[in-house]
Order: sequence, then C-alpha cells, then structure tokens
Amino acid sequence: MIDLNVLKAAVMDSRDGITISDFTLPDNPLVFINPAFERMTGYSLEEIVGKNCRYLQGEDKDQEDQLVIIRAALKDKQPCLVTLRNYKKDGTMFWNELSMSPIFEEDGTLTHYIGIQKDITAKVLIEEQLKGDYNELKRSKTMLEYLVNVDALTGINNRRFLEDQLDIQWKIAKRQTQLVTIMMIDIDHFKKYNDTYGHPAGDQALKRVAEVLSSSFLKSTDFVARYGGEEFIILSIDGKPEQIRQYADRVVKKVADLDILHIGSELGKLSVSLGFSTWQPEEHEAAADIIKQADEALYQAKNAGRNQAIAHVDSIT
Ligand code: GH3
Ligand code: MG
Ligand code: MG
Repeated sequence: MIDLNVLKAAVMDSRDGITISDFTLPDNPLVFINPAFERMTGYSLEEIVGKNCRYLQGEDKDQEDQLVIIRAALKDKQPCLVTLRNYKKDGTMFWNELSMSPIFEEDGTLTHYIGIQKDITAKVLIEEQLKGDYNELKRSKTMLEYLVNVDALTGINNRRFLEDQLDIQWKIAKRQTQLVTIMMIDIDHFKKYNDTYGHPAGDQALKRVAEVLSSSFLKSTDFVARYGGEEFIILSIDGKPEQIRQYADRVVKKVADLDILHIGSELGKLSVSLGFSTWQPEEHEAAADIIKQADEALYQAKNAGRNQAIAHVDSIT
C-alpha cells in the first residue's frame, strides 16, 4: 500500500477542490476541504467545515435537474456527476462540475461522500455563447462577474483576484506551516519601448510577457496576476528556499530569452526586473506587507542594473 503521506500530498496539492462529507452525522456536514477548494470558493476551512455543501448554492434553488440527479444517487448510495451553479464567498457565481463518490465501511455502511470539484465557468460561458440559447441577461452577468477577476489585455488574473487569493493562501500557509513567496516583476524601460515601437507593440509585448510568466510556474498552485500597467506578481506557496531563488532567476531569464528587440535598453532586448520575498506567515503579520517587501526588492533590482532578481534582505531565501 502506498505511503499515507504521499496520498495526503496528492489531496493537499491537487488543483481540483476535494471535499469530504460525513454521512454518519445529521445533515451530512463537510468534515474536510482541501486548499484548492478554499482557493476556488474563497471560503477558508474554518468557515465551511460543519456545513452541508448545499451552502454553496446560496439562494439559487432553481437547478432542480441537477439536484434530482444528486438526490437519486444519495438514495441509492451511488456516485454521480453534476454541474451546479455555486457561489463564492464574495457572491460571484461559478459553474461547479462536481463528481461525488460514496465511501463504505467493510459491512457496507455508507460513511462518507468524496466530492471532486472543478470550476468550469470559462468552458460553460464559451459553450453557451456557441449555442446562443442562454438568457442574454444571465450570461452577461456571469461574464461580468467572471471578468471582474481577469485582466482584459493579457487574459491573466488581475490585482483584485491576487488580493483575494493572497488572503486565502496566507491562511492556508499559516495552518500548514508553508512558505509564501511574492515575486514583483516590472518590465525594464517600458516607457521607452512604447515611445520607440508604439503603444500597440507595447500591448503585444505585455501579452507575451504574461504568457511566459504563466508558463514559468514551480507548482500547480502558483499563479500570476497583472498588478498594474507593466507590473506583474507571481504568488507561490510551499516552495523550498533554494528552489525559489532559482525560480526567480529563471523567470527573469525566460523573459530575456523571448528576444524581443528593444534598442532603448542597455541589453538591446526587452527584460524584467524582479524583487521577491519569502515568509512563513505568523499570526501578527498582514498579508499585504509581503507585497511591500517584494516591491522594495524590485527597486533594488532596478538600481542594480535591471534584468535580475533580488531577494528582500528580510526574506527567508
Ligand atoms: P523602469 O525600467 O524603471 O521600470 O522604467 P519604465 O519606463 O518601465 O517605468 P515607468 O513606470 O516610467 O513606465 C511604465 C510604462 O508602462 C509607462 C506606460 O506607458 C507603460 N504602460 C503601462 N500600461 C500599459 C499598457 O497597458 N500598454 C502599453 N503599451 N504600455 C503600458
Ligand atoms: Mg512600473
Ligand atoms: Mg518598468
């Protein structure tokens, strides 16, 4: 049998939300949720454990077709796959593809249901647009809510999403004693780039940098957000200090390796500077302070000649 710690890591590092409901207790409350579920819904473990997972449906009871499937499966102690409209802590709707599987004791008694959950909002929006049969008002509301977290130019997450996620990731990292890393990344001499090649070319460069940052991750739970005009943040939890140093250097190198011509820069091509800070979250700290430190380190990287990564002096790395 595989080591239980390995199985535990598979659940804790999964990109899909994983929940366990206890069917030996009245109203079958959630007794476990994994970090991906916290990130997906914005609810922390402390807030949701003990509640029945119908909590995520909010006031939206008009989804009988899917609820009938769930009820029938529960009655027959069978697995099922449904897609539900669920609501995050901030009230935004997301389409939750939920697979439910029963767990039995040796004597056949049903004890738990495992739920594997995927946020498939983007996929549903595209499908419905193609079919053209979804109520226009409802669709634009969902689309707007979805877009609230997305940067229109690059398609990556925006600052609002980052700030929400930093709060939730911070709580997870504190509970699991994991390190949190913030990398603040700023394009070098970007004003000159726009002046030389024009604003549309600048937009194209921003998109390419966003793409390369998105493909530089260390872990499946990392993500990048556009934090401001030509500033990006990567948030990563649970990296080892020596890995993070290499990770930061690799991000800087990958941008330079795009070989985007920039005659106004000392390097002759487009580059970024990166400041990072790694913390073990403690009770007294505000999550926002780590961003401030990464920003200070970024300032140092600029002063030291750009196209490089520098750790804040107080960073664990
Ligand atoms: P440094 O190396 O010190 O960072 O110099 P910089 O020129 O990059 O710094 P500065 O902050 O002065 O300039 C940032 C520029 O980024 C100015 C602005 O025109 C450009 N910028 C911000 N948002 C966008 C955008 O959405 N599209 C384009 N094309 N340019 C943008
Ligand atoms: Mg800037
Ligand atoms: Mg800049």
